[in-house]
Amino acid sequence: MPTHPQLLRARVVRSVRRSPSFQRVTIGGPELAGFSYAGFDHWFRLFLPPRPGAPLVLPQVRGRVWWQPYLDIPEDRRPHCSNYTVVDVRRRGEHTELDIDVVLHWDEGTGELAGPVAQWAASTAPGSELAILDQGPLFDPPADATAVHLAADETGLPGLRGILRDLPEHTRGTAIVEVPHADDVEDLAAPGGMRVSWVTRTVEGPGAAALARLRAAVVNGGAPAPQDYGFVVGEAALATGGRRALRAAGLPAARITFSGFWKHRLH
Ligand SMILES: Cc1cc2nc3c(=O)[nH]c(=O)nc-3n(C[C@H](O)[C@H](O)[C@H](O)COP(=O)(O)OP(=O)(O)OC[C@H]3O[C@@H](n4cnc5c(N)ncnc54)[C@H](O)[C@@H]3O)c2cc1C
Repeated sequence: MPTHPQLLRARVVRSVRRSPSFQRVTIGGPELAGFSYAGFDHWFRLFLPPRPGAPLVLPQVRGRVWWQPYLDIPEDRRPHCSNYTVVDVRRRGEHTELDIDVVLHWDEGTGELAGPVAQWAASTAPGSELAILDQGPLFDPPADATAVHLAADETGLPGLRGILRDLPEHTRGTAIVEVPHADDVEDLAAPGGMRVSWVTRTVEGPGAAALARLRAAVVNGGAPAPQDYGFVVGEAALATGGRRALRAAGLPAARITFSGFWKHRLH
């Protein structure tokens, strides 16, 4: 994480549906020229106006301190804040663009698009205001890691895509990605030694198919060596269950990064 994370204002350039579960929002603006992209799963905090048309009031960030200044903003003016991953950054002269892949998800009762960011992504127009607070990458393999084992659901797919793109060409290992629909599956650029497998959501709920695949891989000869590195992100039960499976297979805790990106109502 940067010592002095930057809070940068930007505007929506375009928003395009990519697949059944993903909306790609491209943002741009002069302040993004100051964004120092580290690749891999570089993530940031996304700030949106509390309501469409409301002004974007931002916290005063001092060093890494932003949470208390954020809470100090009166509730009706406080921006919405969520965590997202940089898909790509393009610089053309003075103009910088940054892509975000927002997972679209629907309320299981009403069938309506749910979640403030998913609703924003699907309805936002060019020119809409937002801001990002740089947080750096989460992926942090030890220098002596012999192989890497990655697992994620759709919220971790943007990060996994960046990690696979930026890993050194000689890297060996496995990557498991769970997506809600078969049409969310895509070609991922990855080192030749990385075995990438896709699973689609089952009735057991988010993350269950990826976790089952990870457990099966560990049992069927894919067990990590103690010097490997594990990285499991996505729905909370996938993150904790994945960590447990890798620990049981012999990977030390210090060689596993796991993070619950969201929580399903039944977990
Ligand atoms: C480091 C990091 C990077 C992330 N990168 C991305 C990214 O690139 N793209 C992305 O889409 N998400 C990403 N996420 C996950 C994202 O922050 C969460 O899904 C977040 O809850 C969405 O925010 P929200 O404000 O729209 O919904 P919230 O207000 O947080 O949640 C509203 C409701 O929606 C439910 N919900 C939230 N997310 C989902 C989902 N994916 N599927 C089904 N139900 C859900 C919640 O359980 C809750 O009931 C990332 C998370 C982290 C920690």
